Amino acid sequence: MGKIRPLSENLIGKIAAGEVVERPAAAIKELVENSLDAGATTVTVEIREGGLSYIRVSDNGSGIDESDIRMAFERHATSKISREQDLDSIATLGFRGEALASIAAVSKVTMTTRTAGRETGLKVTNEGGKITDIKETACPQGTTITVSDLFYNVPVRKGFMKKSGQEATAVHDLMTQMLLSRPDVSFRYISNGKTEYHSPGDGQTATAMQTVYGSRAMKEMKAVDDHGNGLVIKGYVGIGENARGNRSQEFFFINGRVMHSKILNDAVETACRERVMIGKFPVCALYITIAYEAVDVNVHPNKLQVRFRDETGVYEAVMSAVLNAIRVRDAFEQPVEMV
Ligand code: ADP
Ligand code: MG
Repeated sequence: MGKIRPLSENLIGKIAAGEVVERPAAAIKELVENSLDAGATTVTVEIREGGLSYIRVSDNGSGIDESDIRMAFERHATSKISREQDLDSIATLGFRGEALASIAAVSKVTMTTRTAGRETGLKVTNEGGKITDIKETACPQGTTITVSDLFYNVPVRKGFMKKSGQEATAVHDLMTQMLLSRPDVSFRYISNGKTEYHSPGDGQTATAMQTVYGSRAMKEMKAVDDHGNGLVIKGYVGIGENARGNRSQEFFFINGRVMHSKILNDAVETACRERVMIGKFPVCALYITIAYEAVDVNVHPNKLQVRFRDETGVYEAVMSAVLNAIRVRDAFEQPVEMV
């Protein structure tokens, strides 16, 4: 008899899960993106021990209809795309239909959900990828997903997890990025019982920035509001005292999605060079609107690299927008003395 055998469905599920949810922050990213895709205007994320023992993501979005409950936990099942041509114009954050199935495969999940048209909601229990119970429950419209004991059935993976403090830091960074990406959504983030963030969701980038960096830092931020070379560039940059020891606080949102681009880091850092000490980096949240044809986004959800058709044009537009922001505010704050 040969040595090669097909993997069991259960094992296939666990292996796939390892790729989608490598750590608590990755699971939370998927859950929050689902909430945003469901049209939520409030999203609450609560974790304990960096998310290793407990994660809860709660939203006031569309909810999941009874007829879709089982499918929601199936691998490669999604409500977001159906045809091949949909891949060219993805408007949602998720579309692979893997997240819920993957998270459920390696944890104990409880979901309560109610759609607008229903009077009662449903409570679904899933353990290690298998639905163990579905019953009616009273709950507000929207969806709440609780994930306990992440990787409880994957001892190897559990052993590889960093200390809960490091996992909490990764979740904190993720929440910063999520909160800044959607000033129109009210986010609440609670870690070990302490509220870390609560944004108003009033649609203003300034209040989102203030939630993250505090009102004192906000006073020193320079407002960017410019356009050029086919880009509209808005947001804030923090220089001087607000500069940081690394570039982790340089955020770029392109057409509403968090993106990473060396070109954009360079443009901002060059513009701020004279106002940031050597070895330090500016803080920024720049919201860039650009024609979809002008960017090439790698659609792998974990690779958020963006490439621009006209790199020089983008670089120059962003650099001059930031330079203008610094100059305008400087002129406003400290009028140039005339001799
Ligand atoms: P994807 O987001 O790629 O479609 P997921 O596994 O993350 O795949 O979710 C599967 C489906 O479950 C989604 O397509 C959506 O219909 C539904 N769903 C998941 N989370 C939520 C939520 N918070 N609110 C409403 N529907 C949800
Ligand atoms: Mg999803």
